Amino acid sequence: MLHLYPDHMNLYGDRGNVIALVHRGACRGITVDVISGAPNSKIPWEEIDLVFIGGGEDSHQSRIAEDFLHRSQELTQRLDDGIPMLAICGGYQLLGHYYRTVEGKKLPGVGYLDVTTEPGRPRAIGDVVCETQLAVTPRTLVGFENHGGRTFLGTEAIPLATVLRGQGNNGQDHTEGTIKNHTIGTYLHGSLLPKNPHLTDLLLSWAVDPTGATQLEPIDMQLELKAHEVILERK
Ligand code: GLN
Repeated sequence: MLHLYPDHMNLYGDRGNVIALVHRGACRGITVDVISGAPNSKIPWEEIDLVFIGGGEDSHQSRIAEDFLHRSQELTQRLDDGIPMLAICGGYQLLGHYYRTVEGKKLPGVGYLDVTTEPGRPRAIGDVVCETQLAVTPRTLVGFENHGGRTFLGTEAIPLATVLRGQGNNGQDHTEGTIKNHTIGTYLHGSLLPKNPHLTDLLLSWAVDPTGATQLEPIDMQLELKAHEVILERK
């Protein structure tokens, strides 16, 4: 898998998502090799079967935005092939058309997701519980959000989930995240995957088979679901 900009885009434990993917892969005998994609590095796209990008402060997003944009053709080609991508918060914003910072600087995005992000106040901070239409059990996804940006979905964008608690995309339309093909953009840090093993396994299954026809053998997820439930029950 490719971990994009690990030194710039890593907030609130986002790196834990990579650890969760490696761990739940290893439990099934699947070795997940992690390739780091730093700005200006050469990426062996033909070897990549899963992509991850975390969140980042505005200043860090500014530093990687141009490099990310330069890679849009190779990246979107692989995403159209069906390989999965998980993009968190600042990474999600830059996978859309643009992110405008609170200072009014417009950072053009890759444009794979039909979303745009405008600055807002106050920052949306706190736990999030949402319900997804993805074929996973449980249906709930939990995480932690901390963002100034408000993301608005274009006509092509399909929300990842409906917000039950928290703000999600924009605090207005009750949507959280976006899904296109096997690419998921979401505001959920936490980190997300250690507390949502059902989503981890779905991403792994798409990496193993980008057609989406293969289901991985179920493995124990009791411990991870306990962490999930703590957030569900938190008042
Ligand atoms: N800098 C962006 C914002 O404030 C993203 C923050 C994040 O990744 N948590 O909206």
